[in-house]
Amino acid sequence: MRSITTFDLQYAHRFYGFKGEAQYLHGHTGVLTIEVEDTVNEGVNMVFPCNEIQKTAWELLKNFDHALILREDDPLLPAILDVYEKQGIKDGHPQNTMKGAAFKTALATAYPDSRLVVTKETMTVEGMIKIVYELLKDKLNIAKITFTSGVNAASAEFPIGESKDRCPLCGISLDVNGVCPKCGYRK
Ligand SMILES: [Zn+2]
Ligand SMILES: [Zn+2]
Repeated sequence: MRSITTFDLQYAHRFYGFKGEAQYLHGHTGVLTIEVEDTVNEGVNMVFPCNEIQKTAWELLKNFDHALILREDDPLLPAILDVYEKQGIKDGHPQNTMKGAAFKTALATAYPDSRLVVTKETMTVEGMIKIVYELLKDKLNIAKITFTSGVNAASAEFPIGESKDRCPLCGISLDVNGVCPKCGYRK
């Protein structure tokens, strides 16, 4: 069965080199849906608690929220960093507090202090699905990701790995020693 969680992400981007209006900087509220598949954990009668999927994913995904997402070869990138540098906000600002954990994968690098994500490929809805899967595939048994943004939508299904051992009391994944990181339950 699947546990399904949805996130809103508000971001600005553009399609650099695209022949159409999306080559201009613009913003969206994107809706990301993550489906986690596993057996039903009998102790809690859930696949996985959705609030825990939220917590696990949001720690990384909040880097995309109220952020600017630019492709690595976009000339806007050095131009914007130059302005941020001159304004003294490139390396953070006291009011910039909703920051996720910095990350770097083959497809994207997050710079939380600048509220910026730099991507290898154009950040289309398809591109975002690839980025999110790369970020979360080792943390969650992701079966499907859907992303919609304006009139664009895409989804992709993924082969799920072997069933994860989960705590029968609170439902979250047990650590490598078979201990629940939340309640201390031991397998
Ligand atoms: Zn767009
Ligand atoms: Zn537990």
